[in-house]
Amino acid sequence: MDNRFQSIRGFNDIFFPESYKLQSIEDTAVRYFNLYNFREIRTPLLEKTDLFVRSIGTSTDIVEKEMYTFEDSGGESLSLRPEGTASAVRAYLEHSIDKQDPVQKWFYRGPMFRHERPQKGRFRQFYQAGCESLGIADPFIDVEIIKLADTIINALPVRGITIRINSIGCPECRPGYIKVLKSYLGTIKESLCDDCKRRIDTNPLRVLDCKKQGCIAATANAPKTTDYLCGDCSAHFNTVKTGLDGLRLSFLTDPRLVRGLDYYSRTVFEFTAEDAGAQNAVLAGGRYDYLVELFGGTHTPAIGFAMGIERIAGLIDMPSTQGPDVFIIPLTEESKQKALAIALLLRRGGRTCETGFGEKTLKSMMRRADKLQSFSVAIIGNDELKEGYVTLKRLSDGHQEKIKDADIVNAVQSIKA
Ligand code: ATP
Ligand code: MG
Repeated sequence: MDNRFQSIRGFNDIFFPESYKLQSIEDTAVRYFNLYNFREIRTPLLEKTDLFVRSIGTSTDIVEKEMYTFEDSGGESLSLRPEGTASAVRAYLEHSIDKQDPVQKWFYRGPMFRHERPQKGRFRQFYQAGCESLGIADPFIDVEIIKLADTIINALPVRGITIRINSIGCPECRPGYIKVLKSYLGTIKESLCDDCKRRIDTNPLRVLDCKKQGCIAATANAPKTTDYLCGDCSAHFNTVKTGLDGLRLSFLTDPRLVRGLDYYSRTVFEFTAEDAGAQNAVLAGGRYDYLVELFGGTHTPAIGFAMGIERIAGLIDMPSTQGPDVFIIPLTEESKQKALAIALLLRRGGRTCETGFGEKTLKSMMRRADKLQSFSVAIIGNDELKEGYVTLKRLSDGHQEKIKDADIVNAVQSIKA
Protein backbone atom coordinates (compact mmCIF):
# COMPACT_ATOMS: atom_id res chain seq x y z
CA MET A 1 0.00 0.00 0.00
CA ASP A 2 1.14 3.50 -0.81
CA ASN A 3 1.07 5.73 2.24
CA ARG A 4 2.07 8.93 0.53
CA PHE A 5 -0.22 11.89 0.92
CA GLN A 6 -1.51 13.96 -1.95
CA SER A 7 -2.63 17.54 -1.94
CA ILE A 8 -6.28 18.45 -2.49
CA ARG A 9 -7.43 18.91 -6.11
CA GLY A 10 -7.06 22.52 -7.20
CA PHE A 11 -4.61 23.26 -4.36
CA ASN A 12 -1.10 23.54 -5.73
CA ASP A 13 2.43 23.25 -4.46
CA ILE A 14 4.37 25.97 -6.20
CA PHE A 15 8.10 25.55 -6.67
CA PHE A 16 10.92 27.73 -7.86
CA PRO A 17 11.09 29.23 -10.47
CA GLU A 18 7.27 29.45 -10.73
CA SER A 19 7.18 30.74 -7.15
CA TYR A 20 9.77 33.35 -8.10
CA LYS A 21 7.54 34.49 -10.94
CA LEU A 22 4.57 34.88 -8.61
CA GLN A 23 6.79 36.68 -6.11
CA SER A 24 7.97 39.18 -8.74
CA ILE A 25 4.39 39.92 -9.80
CA GLU A 26 3.30 40.49 -6.20
CA ASP A 27 6.36 42.60 -5.43
CA THR A 28 5.69 44.77 -8.47
CA ALA A 29 2.09 45.29 -7.36
CA VAL A 30 3.17 46.12 -3.81
CA ARG A 31 5.77 48.59 -5.07
CA TYR A 32 3.10 50.56 -6.94
CA PHE A 33 0.52 50.24 -4.17
CA ASN A 34 3.08 51.92 -1.91
CA LEU A 35 3.86 54.61 -4.49
CA TYR A 36 0.16 55.40 -4.63
CA ASN A 37 0.17 55.57 -0.82
CA PHE A 38 -1.92 52.48 -0.15
CA ARG A 39 -1.21 50.74 3.18
CA GLU A 40 -1.21 47.01 3.68
CA ILE A 41 -4.03 45.30 5.54
CA ARG A 42 -3.92 41.62 6.51
CA THR A 43 -7.24 40.05 7.29
CA PRO A 44 -8.03 36.45 8.30
CA LEU A 45 -8.39 33.73 5.68
CA LEU A 46 -11.46 32.48 7.50
CA GLU A 47 -14.58 34.53 8.17
CA LYS A 48 -18.18 33.93 9.19
CA THR A 49 -20.02 32.65 6.14
CA ASP A 50 -22.67 35.34 6.40
CA LEU A 51 -20.11 38.07 5.67
CA PHE A 52 -19.65 36.77 2.13
CA VAL A 53 -23.26 35.76 1.59
CA ARG A 54 -24.51 39.23 2.44
CA SER A 55 -21.91 41.18 0.49
CA ILE A 56 -21.25 39.06 -2.60
CA GLY A 57 -24.90 38.07 -2.88
CA THR A 58 -26.84 34.80 -2.71
CA SER A 59 -27.46 34.44 -6.42
CA THR A 60 -23.85 34.83 -7.50
CA ASP A 61 -21.56 32.04 -8.69
CA ILE A 62 -19.29 32.50 -5.68
CA VAL A 63 -21.98 32.11 -3.05
CA GLU A 64 -24.14 29.63 -4.95
CA LYS A 65 -21.43 27.10 -5.66
CA GLU A 66 -17.86 28.23 -5.07
CA MET A 67 -17.45 28.78 -1.33
CA TYR A 68 -15.52 26.50 0.99
CA THR A 69 -18.02 26.52 3.81
CA PHE A 70 -18.02 24.27 6.84
CA GLU A 71 -19.09 24.21 10.45
CA ASP A 72 -16.37 24.41 13.07
CA SER A 73 -16.56 22.27 16.18
CA GLY A 74 -18.58 25.00 17.86
CA GLY A 75 -21.25 24.70 15.19
CA GLU A 76 -20.50 28.05 13.59
CA SER A 77 -20.64 28.32 9.80
CA LEU A 78 -17.31 29.58 8.49
CA SER A 79 -15.97 30.10 4.98
CA LEU A 80 -12.53 30.44 3.49
CA ARG A 81 -12.38 33.87 1.91
CA PRO A 82 -13.22 33.81 -1.81
CA GLU A 83 -12.13 37.46 -2.25
CA GLY A 84 -10.73 40.35 -0.25
CA THR A 85 -13.19 43.23 -0.25
CA ALA A 86 -15.79 41.88 2.19
CA SER A 87 -13.16 41.35 4.90
CA ALA A 88 -11.67 44.80 4.34
CA VAL A 89 -15.05 46.44 4.78
CA ARG A 90 -15.79 44.32 7.84
CA ALA A 91 -12.47 45.41 9.40
CA TYR A 92 -13.16 49.04 8.48
CA LEU A 93 -16.37 49.00 10.47
CA GLU A 94 -15.38 46.56 13.23
CA HIS A 95 -12.47 48.78 14.28
CA SER A 96 -14.47 52.01 13.80
CA ILE A 97 -11.88 53.20 11.32
CA ASP A 98 -14.69 54.97 9.51
CA LYS A 99 -15.12 57.17 12.60
CA GLN A 100 -11.41 58.03 12.93
CA ASP A 101 -10.85 58.83 9.29
CA PRO A 102 -13.31 57.55 6.69
CA VAL A 103 -10.78 57.98 3.91
CA GLN A 104 -8.56 54.90 3.79
CA LYS A 105 -6.38 53.36 1.10
CA TRP A 106 -5.54 49.74 1.69
CA PHE A 107 -3.91 46.93 -0.22
CA TYR A 108 -3.72 43.21 0.44
CA ARG A 109 -2.20 40.11 -1.06
CA GLY A 110 -2.67 36.47 -0.32
CA PRO A 111 -4.59 33.34 -1.13
CA MET A 112 -8.29 33.19 -1.98
CA PHE A 113 -10.39 30.02 -2.16
CA ARG A 114 -13.13 29.03 -4.55
CA HIS A 115 -14.51 25.58 -5.22
CA GLU A 116 -14.38 25.78 -9.01
CA ARG A 117 -13.53 23.20 -11.64
CA PRO A 118 -9.72 23.29 -11.77
CA GLN A 119 -8.36 24.11 -15.22
CA LYS A 120 -5.81 26.38 -16.81
CA GLY A 121 -5.86 29.70 -14.92
CA ARG A 122 -8.52 28.47 -12.51
CA PHE A 123 -7.58 26.95 -9.19
CA ARG A 124 -9.27 26.33 -5.87
CA GLN A 125 -6.58 28.17 -3.97
CA PHE A 126 -5.23 31.08 -5.95
CA TYR A 127 -3.46 34.30 -5.16
CA GLN A 128 -4.66 37.85 -5.48
CA ALA A 129 -3.16 41.24 -4.84
CA GLY A 130 -5.68 44.02 -4.60
CA CYS A 131 -6.46 47.45 -3.26
CA GLU A 132 -9.40 49.32 -1.80
CA SER A 133 -9.94 53.06 -1.69
CA LEU A 134 -12.62 53.89 0.86
CA GLY A 135 -14.41 57.17 1.48
CA ILE A 136 -14.11 59.08 -1.80
CA ALA A 137 -16.78 59.37 -4.49
CA ASP A 138 -14.82 61.57 -6.91
CA PRO A 139 -14.67 59.89 -10.35
CA PHE A 140 -11.03 60.94 -10.61
CA ILE A 141 -10.32 58.32 -7.93
CA ASP A 142 -11.70 55.76 -10.40
CA VAL A 143 -9.33 57.13 -13.04
CA GLU A 144 -6.39 57.02 -10.64
CA ILE A 145 -7.17 53.44 -9.58
CA ILE A 146 -7.51 52.22 -13.17
CA LYS A 147 -4.22 53.95 -13.97
CA LEU A 148 -2.62 52.20 -10.99
CA ALA A 149 -3.81 48.83 -12.30
CA ASP A 150 -2.52 49.70 -15.75
CA THR A 151 0.84 50.79 -14.33
CA ILE A 152 1.30 47.50 -12.48
CA ILE A 153 0.43 45.45 -15.55
CA ASN A 154 2.72 47.53 -17.74
CA ALA A 155 5.62 47.18 -15.32
CA LEU A 156 5.45 43.42 -15.98
CA PRO A 157 6.43 41.70 -19.21
CA VAL A 158 2.77 41.34 -20.16
CA ARG A 159 1.43 42.70 -23.46
CA GLY A 160 -1.88 42.55 -25.30
CA ILE A 161 -4.09 43.55 -22.39
CA THR A 162 -7.41 45.28 -23.03
CA ILE A 163 -8.97 47.53 -20.42
CA ARG A 164 -12.75 47.19 -20.41
CA ILE A 165 -14.97 49.54 -18.46
CA ASN A 166 -18.67 49.98 -17.93
CA SER A 167 -21.08 51.61 -15.52
CA ILE A 168 -23.79 49.55 -13.90
CA GLY A 169 -25.53 52.50 -12.27
CA CYS A 170 -26.81 52.88 -8.73
CA PRO A 171 -29.89 51.88 -6.70
CA GLU A 172 -31.57 54.92 -8.26
CA CYS A 173 -31.28 53.86 -11.89
CA ARG A 174 -30.44 50.16 -11.89
CA PRO A 175 -33.96 48.89 -11.05
CA GLY A 176 -35.29 50.63 -14.18
CA TYR A 177 -32.61 48.98 -16.28
CA ILE A 178 -33.14 45.58 -14.68
CA LYS A 179 -36.83 45.79 -15.54
CA VAL A 180 -36.09 46.48 -19.21
CA LEU A 181 -33.41 43.78 -19.27
CA LYS A 182 -35.70 41.23 -17.65
CA SER A 183 -38.44 41.67 -20.20
CA TYR A 184 -35.88 41.55 -23.02
CA LEU A 185 -34.43 38.31 -21.63
CA GLY A 186 -37.94 36.89 -21.48
CA THR A 187 -38.18 37.24 -25.25
CA ILE A 188 -34.96 35.29 -25.87
CA LYS A 189 -35.29 32.84 -22.99
CA GLU A 190 -35.28 29.75 -25.21
CA SER A 191 -31.82 30.52 -26.57
CA LEU A 192 -30.26 30.80 -23.10
CA CYS A 193 -28.50 28.09 -21.09
CA ASP A 194 -30.34 26.56 -18.12
CA ASP A 195 -28.36 28.64 -15.62
CA CYS A 196 -29.27 31.83 -17.44
CA LYS A 197 -32.94 30.83 -17.74
CA ARG A 198 -32.92 30.69 -13.95
CA ARG A 199 -30.95 33.93 -13.64
CA ILE A 200 -33.68 35.89 -15.48
CA ASP A 201 -35.58 35.80 -12.19
CA THR A 202 -32.77 35.55 -9.63
CA ASN A 203 -30.09 37.85 -11.04
CA PRO A 204 -30.76 39.00 -14.63
CA LEU A 205 -27.61 41.13 -14.79
CA ARG A 206 -25.55 37.95 -14.47
CA VAL A 207 -26.90 36.67 -17.80
CA LEU A 208 -24.69 39.25 -19.49
CA ASP A 209 -21.70 37.82 -17.61
CA CYS A 210 -22.30 34.26 -18.87
CA LYS A 211 -19.28 32.85 -20.69
CA LYS A 212 -21.26 30.41 -22.88
CA GLN A 213 -21.13 31.20 -26.58
CA GLY A 214 -24.87 30.60 -27.02
CA CYS A 215 -25.75 33.13 -24.33
CA ILE A 216 -23.24 35.66 -25.64
CA ALA A 217 -24.77 35.41 -29.12
CA ALA A 218 -28.35 35.48 -27.84
CA THR A 219 -27.79 38.64 -25.79
CA ALA A 220 -25.84 40.55 -28.45
CA ASN A 221 -28.66 43.10 -28.74
CA ALA A 222 -29.53 43.28 -25.06
CA PRO A 223 -30.27 46.74 -23.70
CA LYS A 224 -27.16 48.48 -22.38
CA THR A 225 -26.72 49.62 -18.79
CA THR A 226 -25.24 52.89 -20.01
CA ASP A 227 -28.47 53.83 -21.83
CA TYR A 228 -30.38 53.77 -18.54
CA LEU A 229 -28.03 55.61 -16.16
CA CYS A 230 -29.44 58.44 -14.05
CA GLY A 231 -27.96 61.92 -14.49
CA ASP A 232 -25.43 61.54 -11.67
CA CYS A 233 -24.24 58.10 -12.76
CA SER A 234 -24.01 59.25 -16.34
CA ALA A 235 -21.95 62.32 -15.36
CA HIS A 236 -19.70 60.14 -13.18
CA PHE A 237 -19.08 57.71 -16.02
CA ASN A 238 -18.37 60.51 -18.49
CA THR A 239 -15.79 62.02 -16.15
CA VAL A 240 -14.10 58.64 -15.73
CA LYS A 241 -13.86 58.22 -19.50
CA THR A 242 -12.62 61.77 -20.01
CA GLY A 243 -10.04 61.30 -17.25
CA LEU A 244 -8.76 58.09 -18.84
CA ASP A 245 -8.61 59.83 -22.23
CA GLY A 246 -6.64 62.63 -20.56
CA LEU A 247 -4.06 60.02 -19.51
CA ARG A 248 -4.07 58.63 -23.05
CA LEU A 249 -5.11 55.30 -21.66
CA SER A 250 -6.97 53.29 -24.25
CA PHE A 251 -9.97 51.36 -23.06
CA LEU A 252 -13.07 49.73 -24.41
CA THR A 253 -16.55 50.52 -23.14
CA ASP A 254 -18.03 47.05 -22.81
CA PRO A 255 -21.80 46.94 -22.22
CA ARG A 256 -21.55 43.24 -21.29
CA LEU A 257 -19.28 43.95 -18.36
CA VAL A 258 -21.47 43.67 -15.28
CA ARG A 259 -19.24 41.72 -12.85
CA GLY A 260 -20.38 38.66 -11.00
CA LEU A 261 -20.69 40.13 -7.50
CA ASP A 262 -23.71 41.96 -6.14
CA TYR A 263 -21.94 44.77 -4.34
CA TYR A 264 -20.72 46.70 -7.35
CA SER A 265 -22.15 50.04 -8.47
CA ARG A 266 -21.26 52.62 -11.12
CA THR A 267 -17.76 52.06 -12.55
CA VAL A 268 -16.74 48.45 -13.16
CA PHE A 269 -13.64 47.39 -15.04
CA GLU A 270 -11.73 44.35 -16.13
CA PHE A 271 -8.33 43.82 -17.73
CA THR A 272 -8.41 40.96 -20.19
CA ALA A 273 -5.74 39.12 -22.13
CA GLU A 274 -6.98 38.63 -25.65
CA ASP A 275 -5.50 35.22 -26.32
CA ALA A 276 -5.87 33.45 -22.98
CA GLY A 277 -9.12 31.60 -23.71
CA ALA A 278 -12.05 31.63 -21.28
CA GLN A 279 -9.89 32.44 -18.25
CA ASN A 280 -8.79 35.72 -19.76
CA ALA A 281 -9.62 38.17 -16.94
CA VAL A 282 -6.39 39.03 -15.19
CA LEU A 283 -7.62 41.90 -13.06
CA ALA A 284 -11.07 43.14 -12.12
CA GLY A 285 -12.71 45.69 -9.91
CA GLY A 286 -15.18 48.46 -9.52
CA ARG A 287 -17.03 50.82 -7.24
CA TYR A 288 -18.94 49.50 -4.30
CA ASP A 289 -20.53 52.66 -2.96
CA TYR A 290 -23.23 50.85 -0.96
CA LEU A 291 -21.32 48.00 0.71
CA VAL A 292 -20.31 49.90 3.85
CA GLU A 293 -23.91 50.87 4.56
CA LEU A 294 -25.09 47.35 3.75
CA PHE A 295 -22.80 46.28 6.62
CA GLY A 296 -24.39 48.87 8.92
CA GLY A 297 -22.03 51.81 8.44
CA THR A 298 -22.80 55.27 7.12
CA HIS A 299 -22.83 55.85 3.37
CA THR A 300 -19.21 55.45 2.23
CA PRO A 301 -18.29 55.42 -1.44
CA ALA A 302 -15.46 53.05 -2.30
CA ILE A 303 -13.65 51.41 -5.17
CA GLY A 304 -11.09 48.66 -5.55
CA PHE A 305 -9.67 45.93 -7.72
CA ALA A 306 -8.01 42.55 -7.43
CA MET A 307 -5.50 41.01 -9.77
CA GLY A 308 -5.18 37.27 -10.31
CA ILE A 309 -1.51 36.50 -9.74
CA GLU A 310 -1.48 33.10 -11.50
CA ARG A 311 -3.46 34.46 -14.46
CA ILE A 312 -0.82 37.15 -14.95
CA ALA A 313 1.96 34.61 -14.44
CA GLY A 314 0.40 32.54 -17.23
CA LEU A 315 1.14 35.38 -19.64
CA ILE A 316 4.79 35.71 -18.64
CA ASP A 317 7.60 33.50 -19.92
CA MET A 318 9.55 31.69 -17.27
CA PRO A 319 12.20 34.11 -16.01
CA SER A 320 15.78 33.07 -16.67
CA THR A 321 17.12 32.40 -13.23
CA GLN A 322 20.64 33.04 -12.10
CA GLY A 323 22.83 31.01 -9.83
CA PRO A 324 24.64 32.58 -6.87
CA ASP A 325 27.51 35.01 -7.40
CA VAL A 326 29.86 32.91 -5.32
CA PHE A 327 30.05 29.32 -4.13
CA ILE A 328 32.36 29.09 -1.14
CA ILE A 329 34.60 26.07 -0.88
CA PRO A 330 36.19 25.34 2.52
CA LEU A 331 38.90 22.78 1.81
CA THR A 332 39.44 21.80 5.42
CA GLU A 333 37.48 21.53 8.63
CA GLU A 334 39.53 24.49 10.00
CA SER A 335 38.52 26.78 7.12
CA LYS A 336 34.78 26.41 7.66
CA GLN A 337 34.57 29.21 10.21
CA LYS A 338 36.26 31.56 7.77
CA ALA A 339 34.03 30.33 4.94
CA LEU A 340 31.05 31.41 6.99
CA ALA A 341 32.62 34.82 7.70
CA ILE A 342 33.30 35.37 3.98
CA ALA A 343 29.75 34.33 3.13
CA LEU A 344 28.40 36.85 5.62
CA LEU A 345 30.64 39.59 4.19
CA LEU A 346 29.39 38.86 0.68
CA ARG A 347 25.75 38.78 1.67
CA ARG A 348 26.13 42.00 3.63
CA GLY A 349 27.56 43.48 0.43
CA GLY A 350 24.51 42.38 -1.52
CA ARG A 351 26.16 39.39 -3.23
CA THR A 352 24.36 36.07 -3.33
CA CYS A 353 26.39 33.15 -2.17
CA GLU A 354 26.18 29.53 -1.24
CA THR A 355 28.45 27.52 1.04
CA GLY A 356 29.84 24.08 0.36
CA PHE A 357 29.15 22.73 3.84
CA GLY A 358 28.17 19.10 3.73
CA GLU A 359 30.33 18.25 0.72
CA LYS A 360 33.56 16.44 1.50
CA THR A 361 35.89 16.97 -1.44
CA LEU A 362 36.98 19.81 -3.70
CA LYS A 363 35.63 17.80 -6.60
CA SER A 364 32.15 17.37 -5.14
CA MET A 365 32.02 21.04 -4.18
CA MET A 366 33.03 22.08 -7.70
CA ARG A 367 30.34 19.82 -9.10
CA ARG A 368 27.76 21.41 -6.82
CA ALA A 369 28.90 24.93 -7.80
CA ASP A 370 28.44 23.96 -11.46
CA LYS A 371 25.03 22.48 -10.84
CA LEU A 372 23.90 25.65 -9.07
CA GLN A 373 25.28 27.66 -12.01
CA SER A 374 27.38 29.70 -9.62
CA PHE A 375 29.23 32.58 -11.25
CA SER A 376 32.40 31.95 -9.26
CA VAL A 377 33.93 29.91 -6.45
CA ALA A 378 35.91 31.17 -3.47
CA ILE A 379 38.34 28.52 -2.32
CA ILE A 380 39.58 28.60 1.26
CA GLY A 381 42.33 26.16 2.22
CA ASN A 382 44.96 26.28 4.95
CA ASP A 383 47.19 28.79 3.09
CA GLU A 384 44.23 31.12 2.55
CA LEU A 385 43.31 30.76 6.21
CA LYS A 386 46.81 31.56 7.44
CA GLU A 387 47.50 34.47 5.13
CA GLY A 388 44.10 36.19 5.11
CA TYR A 389 43.00 35.80 1.51
CA VAL A 390 40.67 33.67 -0.60
CA THR A 391 41.20 32.25 -4.08
CA LEU A 392 38.41 33.60 -6.25
CA LYS A 393 37.84 31.78 -9.51
CA ARG A 394 35.45 32.75 -12.30
CA LEU A 395 33.85 29.56 -13.58
CA SER A 396 33.17 30.70 -17.15
CA ASP A 397 36.87 30.98 -18.07
CA GLY A 398 38.82 29.78 -15.05
CA HIS A 399 40.24 33.26 -14.38
CA GLN A 400 41.67 33.13 -10.86
CA GLU A 401 42.98 35.69 -8.33
CA LYS A 402 44.09 35.87 -4.72
CA ILE A 403 41.81 38.33 -2.94
CA LYS A 404 42.38 39.80 0.50
CA ASP A 405 39.46 38.84 2.81
CA ALA A 406 38.30 42.44 3.25
CA ASP A 407 38.25 43.05 -0.53
CA ILE A 408 36.02 40.13 -1.43
CA VAL A 409 32.85 42.14 -2.16
CA ASN A 410 34.62 44.52 -4.54
CA ALA A 411 36.50 41.69 -6.18
CA VAL A 412 33.30 39.82 -6.98
CA GLN A 413 31.86 43.05 -8.32
CA SER A 414 34.81 43.58 -10.65
CA ILE A 415 35.00 40.03 -12.01
CA LYS A 416 31.25 40.17 -12.74
CA ALA A 417 31.49 43.47 -14.59
P1 ATP B 1 -13.83 34.63 -13.79
O1 ATP B 1 -14.85 35.34 -14.59
O2 ATP B 1 -12.62 34.23 -14.56
O3 ATP B 1 -14.41 33.51 -12.98
P2 ATP B 1 -14.17 36.33 -11.53
O4 ATP B 1 -15.05 37.41 -12.05
O5 ATP B 1 -14.78 35.24 -10.74
O6 ATP B 1 -13.30 35.72 -12.72
P3 ATP B 1 -13.00 38.12 -9.58
O7 ATP B 1 -13.85 37.69 -8.46
O8 ATP B 1 -13.25 39.42 -10.22
O9 ATP B 1 -12.97 36.97 -10.71
O10 ATP B 1 -11.46 38.03 -9.11
C1 ATP B 1 -10.45 38.91 -9.62
C2 ATP B 1 -9.40 38.15 -10.40
O11 ATP B 1 -8.96 36.99 -9.69
C3 ATP B 1 -9.89 37.59 -11.72
O12 ATP B 1 -9.86 38.57 -12.71
C4 ATP B 1 -8.89 36.48 -11.99
O13 ATP B 1 -7.70 37.01 -12.54
C5 ATP B 1 -8.59 35.96 -10.60
N1 ATP B 1 -9.34 34.73 -10.32
C6 ATP B 1 -10.65 34.60 -10.02
N2 ATP B 1 -10.98 33.32 -9.80
C7 ATP B 1 -9.84 32.60 -9.96
C8 ATP B 1 -9.51 31.20 -9.83
N3 ATP B 1 -10.41 30.30 -9.48
N4 ATP B 1 -8.22 30.83 -10.09
C9 ATP B 1 -7.28 31.73 -10.42
N5 ATP B 1 -7.53 33.05 -10.54
C10 ATP B 1 -8.79 33.49 -10.30
MG1 MG C 1 -15.37 33.31 -11.19
